[in-house]
Amino acid sequence: MSPVAEAPVTLSGLRHGFTAAADGDMSPAAARAAAGLGDVLTLKQVHGAVVHRAAPGLSVLEGDGWVSTGPAVGVFTADCSPLLLWSGDGRVVGAFHAGWRGLAAGMPEAAVRAMTDAGARDLSGALGPLIGPCCYEVGAEFAETFPAASLARRDGKLYFDQRAEALRRLAAAGLPAGRVAVSPECTSCGPTAYFSWRRDRVRRSLFSYIAPRAA
Ligand SMILES: [Zn+2]
Repeated sequence: MSPVAEAPVTLSGLRHGFTAAADGDMSPAAARAAAGLGDVLTLKQVHGAVVHRAAPGLSVLEGDGWVSTGPAVGVFTADCSPLLLWSGDGRVVGAFHAGWRGLAAGMPEAAVRAMTDAGARDLSGALGPLIGPCCYEVGAEFAETFPAASLARRDGKLYFDQRAEALRRLAAAGLPAGRVAVSPECTSCGPTAYFSWRRDRVRRSLFSYIAPRAA
């Protein structure tokens, strides 16, 4: 398979990745192959803030995040925010999906809480390719839900900054921005590097995954 875009940080040697368009449309089966991990747990994602604790052999659950000390875990995106978290010792990891609904519902805070509950200490994170404020035009109602710092105004239009909102919420939950690597890539900019639902109006998925260090 083609190379998977790496997070711009060293994840303590943890196996992880964010796929790009060149890796193909990620079905759960394609995601397992892309991760090269034999098995990787995926979710039926519903744009909420429910985080599950991974265990081998789990059937597909509804939710938007996983915390794991065993199986590899991943989430699908096509403009939303893919967030990976890991503990300093690499033994607790998490993969989380959050678009505007998940951000409004508090997914970043739920992610940090679930990691901490699973025993994670010295958290770090990486935010992968997502639709940036360069492209993510939104309606005026976003100003009622999100702070001005997570919005941009240009030429009378309003744009949502998922990175700013995710980092703000992670910081509020105790994970400062300095400990989160942020991909500068926008899924919608440019023609083909990533899949973008808002640009293409075609359902194709990117996949972001991480596996914990073996005990
Ligand atoms: Zn863009």
